[in-house]
Amino acid sequence: MSRPPSLSEDQVLRYSRQIILPGFGARGQAALGSAQIGVRGEGVAARVASLYLAAAGVGRLVLDRERGDLDGDPDHPLSTAFLAELNPDVGARVDRVGEGADPVIDLREEHGFAAPPAPLRPARAALVGALAATEALCRLAWGRGGEPGTLVPALDWGLPPLPSLPTLPPPEAATVVVLGAGGLGCPAALALALAGVGRIVLVDSDVVDLSNLQRQVLYLPRDVGRPKVECAAERLSRVAGARVVPVRARLDRGNAAELLAGADLVIEGSDSLETKFLVNDACVRAGVPVAIAGVIRTEAQAIAIVPGAGACYRCVFHAPPPGGGIEAVCAREGVLGAVAGVAGAAQAQEAIKLLLGWGRPLASAMWLFSGRDRFQRVVAASRRPGCPACGGETRV
Ligand SMILES: [Zn+2]
Repeated sequence: MSRPPSLSEDQVLRYSRQIILPGFGARGQAALGSAQIGVRGEGVAARVASLYLAAAGVGRLVLDRERGDLDGDPDHPLSTAFLAELNPDVGARVDRVGEGADPVIDLREEHGFAAPPAPLRPARAALVGALAATEALCRLAWGRGGEPGTLVPALDWGLPPLPSLPTLPPPEAATVVVLGAGGLGCPAALALALAGVGRIVLVDSDVVDLSNLQRQVLYLPRDVGRPKVECAAERLSRVAGARVVPVRARLDRGNAAELLAGADLVIEGSDSLETKFLVNDACVRAGVPVAIAGVIRTEAQAIAIVPGAGACYRCVFHAPPPGGGIEAVCAREGVLGAVAGVAGAAQAQEAIKLLLGWGRPLASAMWLFSGRDRFQRVVAASRRPGCPACGGETRV
């Protein structure tokens, strides 16, 4: 076994969240760095998969793309120019993917995962792309993972129908508030923009850090030190002319009602468990649906809270643990970027299903996912008698 090459200070910081994953380490990073992967296809799925592979430091990507207008725009997050700038450790070559020995991820649209209504397809494609990247990265780092694209979450989750769901504006007329512009908020907001959601309000108080770039795929090295919401709004405005309102703030008890005013739907992608409970309480009180997700290591979970149609976050988890931030836990336990992509895209998928009134949302049910173990399950969640949020007893 050869000794893994040493990493520079910048590389240690850039990849810190995955290097600390159990069994990953400098050896896992070296395995990624020496790998070459071909990505077949040029749609959203292939472009999202390429982003997560590049962000994780896969040494060389061979891309199956025509050179088009999109690819010359270095600020469009799905362009080849953006990909080339994302990570100096990665060489990306636009070329026909050969039939040779390189591992190939086949994400051509004709390979059959598109069937839902048009606005759902980009979120679906982003989910499939992030999932394919997850499987490729798990296979490289741990020798585990399956054929990319074989573990695709169901659209309707196989759940029994719900008695009633709210009627919401269609995506093009909707305002969706995305809380957090990090590992979850980046892919969720990107999928919403691609779906043509009318107005996206993006709320975050942080600035871009080098350690974010491994999973927060709307940012480039030149953004380090800039407010995330400013950069994200610029990038998303390049995607189908999306109208994005950047709000540099961190949601708390004092500003929750103001930040959520006017929302038809909320996506909760913050790094704080306390915030997730607070958002749950505020949304239940206001009668606004919210998709909440969490991610750690190679595991993710997501749930849709539809007030009046089943369990809320507090019904399931009761209360945040003392000292409740997950940012500290993520820094200690690590997170694979592509898994955050899977969870964020799943949130967007649920949001768009609710806006369209299409299919069965993850209401009163929780989706559990492990990339490394190739595991997913949907468990039913019931309304808890005496839940203070559902009983209107929580203060926001
Ligand atoms: Zn409840």
